[in-house]
Amino acid sequence: KRIISADRIPDDLPLDNTLRPGKLKYYIGQSKVKEKLEIFIEAAKARGEALDHVLLYGPPGLGKTTLANIIANELNVNIHTTSGPAIERPGDLAAILTNLQANDVLFIDEIHRLNKVVEEVLYPAMEDFSLDIIIGKGPSARSVRLDLAPFTLVGATTRAGLLSSPLRDRFGVINRLEFYNKEELACIIERSARVLGIEIARQGALEIACRSRGTPRISNRLLKRVRDYAEVKAEGDITPVVVDKALKLMEIDSLGLDSTDHRLLRSIIKKFSGGPVGLNTIAAAISEECETIEDVYEPFLLQIGFIERTPRGRVATSLAYEHLNIKRDEDSDS
Ligand code: ADP
Repeated sequence: KRIISADRIPDDLPLDNTLRPGKLKYYIGQSKVKEKLEIFIEAAKARGEALDHVLLYGPPGLGKTTLANIIANELNVNIHTTSGPAIERPGDLAAILTNLQANDVLFIDEIHRLNKVVEEVLYPAMEDFSLDIIIGKGPSARSVRLDLAPFTLVGATTRAGLLSSPLRDRFGVINRLEFYNKEELACIIERSARVLGIEIARQGALEIACRSRGTPRISNRLLKRVRDYAEVKAEGDITPVVVDKALKLMEIDSLGLDSTDHRLLRSIIKKFSGGPVGLNTIAAAISEECETIEDVYEPFLLQIGFIERTPRGRVATSLAYEHLNIKRDEDSDS
């Protein structure tokens, strides 16, 4: 598994959980999202009502799960966590919904992966806090409406476009999480270092921040790896030079790109003369899934302007050529 993949891998869970800030004021960056949520949470609390349903979307590792937990914390309510693929049948969802206390938060990660039948049970639950259940079978079957406690659904997805529009329309608050800048990531790294008891100078934190692809999960993971390197090779001193050496060893370049990013860019440039080339073709050329490319690799490459999406496919930009040290006229294998 890639060290710099923003996707959560099982090993991350304990680290993710240890490093999650518990309050909005400790959640770094995303100021627009925070400002909105602060107001809505305050208002819901003052009225003693459930907060409107919240949709959080953005690439993996940017803090959607963290924010869902913070929302519940700030509202002083319980959070129930599940995910789209984990809810297989309408009965599973009914069991979760009937267990909620008034104003609780139900967090559904990967909400775009809910199946259609389950999704339809969710509509009346979100809208009127009620559940339509069918009792019996065949001609004697009848529908019974069950009242639920009011609750807040917090849904997380990597792309809002993956959601069906009836589901998307039922969220009152829709927030897109952005990649973090270098300073914000350095603050997150310094905070994580404090929690983990690691000493790190500002310059070292900034150096890790530059290689983190705008993603806190990657910052935290790199911090741990760099600490190991520093302890063995540099008496625990995390200086920019030590960071550089440690990350070189892990084949992560100055912008945080690894061999898979390089393969992807080189493939567009060398095999397809810089593009445009369709996503399926790239995926086949580098033996990766289209969805992984779209969710995990591409967002950051688009963000730093290394590739562009055009109606005819992906195109590598001059910045990508420069970074890989390839001249325009030598871009073809043939
Ligand atoms: P997602 O659900 O979007 O994949 P997570 O919420 O699991 O991401 O975040 C991954 C890790 O990054 C968590 O351990 C958390 O500590 C850290 N993190 C994310 N966003 C922030 C933030 N704004 N401030 C501090 N730490 C953050």
